[in-house]
Amino acid sequence: ALTAGIVGLPNVGKSTLFNAITKAGALAANYPFATIDPNVGIVEVPDERLDKLTEIVVPKKTVPTAFEFTDIAGIVKGASQGEGLGNKFLSHIREVDAICQVVRAFDDDNITHVSGKIDPLDDIEVINMELIFADLESIERRLPRLEKMARQKDADAMAEAAILTKVKETLENNQPVRSLEMTPEEKALVKHLNFLTQKPILYVANVAEDELMDLDNNEHLTRIKEYARNENAEVVVISARVEEEMAVLDDEDKQEFLEALGLEESGLDKLIRSAYDLLGLATYFTAGVQEVRAWTFKKGMTAPECAGIIHTDFQKGFIRAEVMSYDDLVELGSEAAVKEAGKARLEGKEYIMKDGDVVHFRFNV
Ligand code: GDP
Repeated sequence: ALTAGIVGLPNVGKSTLFNAITKAGALAANYPFATIDPNVGIVEVPDERLDKLTEIVVPKKTVPTAFEFTDIAGIVKGASQGEGLGNKFLSHIREVDAICQVVRAFDDDNITHVSGKIDPLDDIEVINMELIFADLESIERRLPRLEKMARQKDADAMAEAAILTKVKETLENNQPVRSLEMTPEEKALVKHLNFLTQKPILYVANVAEDELMDLDNNEHLTRIKEYARNENAEVVVISARVEEEMAVLDDEDKQEFLEALGLEESGLDKLIRSAYDLLGLATYFTAGVQEVRAWTFKKGMTAPECAGIIHTDFQKGFIRAEVMSYDDLVELGSEAAVKEAGKARLEGKEYIMKDGDVVHFRFNV
């Protein structure tokens, strides 16, 4: 499964946020044994469409889809030079598919800050520079060898060396690899290096609990948003402490809590949905009287690939998919009505699944 890594400097609220994630995950009845690795937290992806489908189909049970966060503690300045356990943490980042960088946007004199002052942009730069240094190091290990091969007129080596030289320039200008436009061929050539700064990123601004209702006056937050805008990155605002408290509440209490704070949605739910989007994920549904269920797929996947998410046999024996859109189903009120209206489709092996598709797969066993 794809996973988003939670990173940040010490004392910004990562553990508090990760606790909220594991507590919320522990409440999710469908995934009781899912967290074997203590650094992985599994949460349900909130999706109102699932509630609506449950109303329409009235199944025996309803199963949301899940999402994984990985806690990556311990990044400090100098990590890329192997200071402390730094390098090990950087290698953990290599294993995640997207980065959620927690940034401290709360003032609290009781909680010290590693650099002695609260400056979110400084914090972001410290982390991002460590990732840039680590990527430069990967290139410096690779490039001399490639250049040697290129001198022997090895065409692949020449092509890779050319793009790596461009990547290196980008990094030397303190820009992440993701900011460099590459052709699909170039992307394929550098894929094996698994650059840290090529992973999609979002920023999690951790604000004080009493500031949640007054975000416009949080200067730290304003600056973080401005920085993120320049990078085309998203900022999710949370109060990690509030999330930790809220994570143990049932739906009704949680709703009350949110209303008291004047919020529509918890920060954690927003973070889950944003991280899901960041990874290019989408949801399709299966809806039968036994079970209504949401399934995660990667945008661009075909119908057989999506069938394979449920079971490999579904993919192997795939015949076709009966598809209707969630919107049509809700508008017309039942599967039968959708069929009657001629809005149910039979799709073949080439069909690219869409977010919100409600599907029955037909397959040979
Ligand atoms: P980590 O080192 O990044 O994992 O940070 P922690 O989650 O351990 O948090 C560091 C300290 O900041 C702890 O004492 C937390 O209770 C506190 N903290 C975290 N989030 C908030 C918050 O939203 N408001 C306030 N006031 N303190 C927070």
